[in-house]
Amino acid sequence: MHGTQSHQAIHECGRGELAVPQAMAIPVVGMELSDIRSALGPAEPAFRAQQIYDAVYRKRVENWDAISNLPKSLRARLADELPLGLPDVEKRYMSADGTVRYLLRLGDGKTVETVWMPEGDRATICISSQVGCAVDCKFCLTARMGLERNLTAGEIVGQVLLAAGTAPVDRLNIVMMGQGEPLLNLASVIKATRLLTDPEGMGISPRRITLSTAGIVPKIAELGREPVRPKLAISLNASYEDQRRDLMPITRKYHLKDLIEACRAYPLRTWEKLTFEYVLLKGFNDNDADARRVVQLLAHLNCKVNLIALNPGPDIPFETPDPARVANFQAIIRRSVPCLIRKPRGLDVFAACGQLKRMELVTIGS
Ligand code: SAH
Repeated sequence: MHGTQSHQAIHECGRGELAVPQAMAIPVVGMELSDIRSALGPAEPAFRAQQIYDAVYRKRVENWDAISNLPKSLRARLADELPLGLPDVEKRYMSADGTVRYLLRLGDGKTVETVWMPEGDRATICISSQVGCAVDCKFCLTARMGLERNLTAGEIVGQVLLAAGTAPVDRLNIVMMGQGEPLLNLASVIKATRLLTDPEGMGISPRRITLSTAGIVPKIAELGREPVRPKLAISLNASYEDQRRDLMPITRKYHLKDLIEACRAYPLRTWEKLTFEYVLLKGFNDNDADARRVVQLLAHLNCKVNLIALNPGPDIPFETPDPARVANFQAIIRRSVPCLIRKPRGLDVFAACGQLKRMELVTIGS
């Protein structure tokens, strides 16, 4: 995280030097314009910071040499003293359906995953918000690794920069549905959202960014108070309290009725609907009565439902329902609430929902 101490180090630097010694240098990806100005120090004119900000976030350069409008001497100093900080690609798995799953290595050697899912001339990038996850949902493989740490804003933005390459922003959707629970790393997620949406920088519309949560009730209200925030999706996954508690232990702390109440109180923007995600588990939460209860739960909310048939995994104690069951469930919900079935992407490279980190559990060819 970019702590106060590090910022202090920046301000205490002498004229003409880059602000921080290499050993504690903060990566530029994740910095706001004012941070870059401080890191450059007072000897550089202010427009240099602007050029760097533009190059990193709008032009999406991969190294300092690519910023051709900077003097060579400054480029050399940057290369020596200030890391750009894009994550390293440890592995890249290509699916037959065009999905690309990246295993990215972070500054401290930990790895996270990012998934690129093309669809026609558009693409969705699924990013992680934490290394691992503490929420322990019983159908999700990421849960098996527990939580290792939060990602910084720079590490969140870096995933988008890396996966997006030069793709135009009006063709991109970003979903925070990779590893981790974004509402348990809210400060970094919000800082990342500001950087992703800044019209002077990456310029991705907040309408194109979706944050998905397991239901951290007090953080939903906190998110609603943020002026710049993604759209909100809630992983519902069950139709009543006890059923949800068996699947998502977080329900013990944040009850289903309080979750629905937080959704009711959530300040939607004029163009916005809530999304509820529902993982269908054969014989557990997929019968007609479940579908009717879901409709009742969501009756007074401005929302839509995305159904996902379970992507199975080793030691996941559930099975995938038949397509006909999924279609029936959808038909019941659809009478009252818009409802789509999300098709799995990148199954052959374990890029689909709930599969991230599977690579560490099984070996496949790359
Ligand atoms: N922690 C956040 C975001 C990560 S999970 C959340 O809970 O929403 C992203 C989505 O993948 C969630 O809707 C989750 O319910 C779903 N998911 C997890 N494991 C899955 C699996 N094995 N099959 C299908 N969807 C799964």
